[in-house]
Amino acid sequence: MQEVILLKDGELALKGLNRRMFEDILIKNIRQRLKASVGEFTFTRSQSTTVIEPKEEYADFDKAVDIIRHIFGVVGISRAAKCEKDIGVIKKTAKEYLGDELSFARTFKVEAKRSDKKFPYNSPEICNEVGGYLLSCFNHLKVDVHNPEVKVTVEIRDNHAFIHGNQLRGAGGMPTGTGGNAAVLISGGIDSPVAAWMMAKRGIKLTAVHFASPPFTSERAEMKVHELLKKVAKYSGRIDLYTVHFTEIQERIRDFSPEDMFTVTMRRMMMRIASEIAEKNDCPALITGESVGQVASQTIWALRCTDDAASLPVFRPCIGMDKNEIIEISRKIDAFDISIQPYEDCCTVFTPKHPKTKPTLEAAREAEKSAWDSELIKKAIDTAKHTAIF
Ligand code: ATP
Ligand code: MG
Repeated sequence: MQEVILLKDGELALKGLNRRMFEDILIKNIRQRLKASVGEFTFTRSQSTTVIEPKEEYADFDKAVDIIRHIFGVVGISRAAKCEKDIGVIKKTAKEYLGDELSFARTFKVEAKRSDKKFPYNSPEICNEVGGYLLSCFNHLKVDVHNPEVKVTVEIRDNHAFIHGNQLRGAGGMPTGTGGNAAVLISGGIDSPVAAWMMAKRGIKLTAVHFASPPFTSERAEMKVHELLKKVAKYSGRIDLYTVHFTEIQERIRDFSPEDMFTVTMRRMMMRIASEIAEKNDCPALITGESVGQVASQTIWALRCTDDAASLPVFRPCIGMDKNEIIEISRKIDAFDISIQPYEDCCTVFTPKHPKTKPTLEAAREAEKSAWDSELIKKAIDTAKHTAIF
């Protein structure tokens, strides 16, 4: 018996005319991800199913399944046993392969799909044979055709039979790369990794920009951002991170812009730098984790002032979400425990006691002008440190 992974057409969240292209991108993404951390796999497409098989005998199958489940574009996968097309072998394989699952279940049913019509048993006969055999092996089991705890599926295909239990849920969403590119402004907080994940879920390939202000922010804070992006990359694949040295710019803002406009000015400069890094990396949009009213810099007046400095559209998927809703996603993607580690973010350096919550555009532009230094901005962009996150 050999284990394989079945990816059915119905398990891909793809529709319409682009389906074939989306499918090719998804397969390419899966192939790359498996190759990077488990090994080489073969992908064979037939009868609306892609069969994924390890090339090496001792590949880490559990790890491969875990990787595939998290890749955007996969709605569900079936982990299956591949065996000889012989009814005796099929019965024994079903018992062996699904034994654990069936021991813990109360009800089951068998479903058969026979694409090889020359197979001597038709679908109802296969169900009877396999179902009867399993009932005789597991005395506690009952058949429930409507709502079984375990659905045993037997597929008779051209060269082999495949046997699988319940389908495993995938991450859903669209395959990374089908939605274009965007640059996410990533902090070590809760919101921006969630925002990154939400946009990547729609097929967007991420580049990330992080602003660090050493020595006010530590190396640990930067490592935290790497760890957070790794959690997102589990779903989205590789993320190119640019870490911008922001200290001198922040010091200049502190020294030259009015205190109550410090945050707005800082956010405008972040937008300018991020827009340029985004353009250089072929990203026509920015993403942030902002949510209306969360802090002084996230009132609609402040957001207007921030947007005014961005040369690209800014997507804010968390904009209408409550903190609890954001935290729910943060936990789901296993980022929360990292996000709450207490390291300084550059946003908390030099923060004013009474930031303006209703800044005007004129005041924001004026404040920025007084702290502006083109050389410093250029230097920050040119010296941004690149790290590839997987
Ligand atoms: P988060 O939880 O994402 O840090 P927040 O509620 O703490 O968000 P702010 O600190 O005001 O909010 O930041 C708002 C947004 O600005 C963040 O979601 C993120 O997109 C961006 N941002 C904040 N700090 C940084 C940083 N150091 N580097 C890059 N982007 C940042
Ligand atoms: Mg923050």
